[in-house]
Amino acid sequence: MTTTNSDGGRSELAWVLRTPEVRAFRRYMARWKPILHLEAWEITWEVFEGDLPDTAGRGSSEHVAADVEADWRYQHAHVRLSYAAIRGKDADYIESVALHELVHAFVSHAAVRNNDHNELLVTQITTSLMLTRQEARR
Ligand SMILES: [Zn+2]
Repeated sequence: MTTTNSDGGRSELAWVLRTPEVRAFRRYMARWKPILHLEAWEITWEVFEGDLPDTAGRGSSEHVAADVEADWRYQHAHVRLSYAAIRGKDADYIESVALHELVHAFVSHAAVRNNDHNELLVTQITTSLMLTRQEARR
């Protein structure tokens, strides 16, 4: 049986959705969605207890914290999160994982064909936003 949250989060295991790490992930997704101007997007997400299941064309998903399938034409993104990869991690790490996946949606219209280039772009934007937030907290 799959448990679903009001904001589209789901998991095969209801307890996973109630862990502090997954609750934090959910909060950070909600925080960054309007900042990235993705209000109109439908963003669904699901949590797996261990590694993300392998999907054709994505390569190895071992130890990947999260990934996303984003389609700017339909303004829809689906995020997959590995609980094992965020278990026990600090708030900044979990926030950067949530933000990273949303930034993928944010730049999805830019259609960077080279995957490494795309990851670098997303990582740079994520890092800049996290640093901006940390500066604002001082
Ligand atoms: Zn990425």
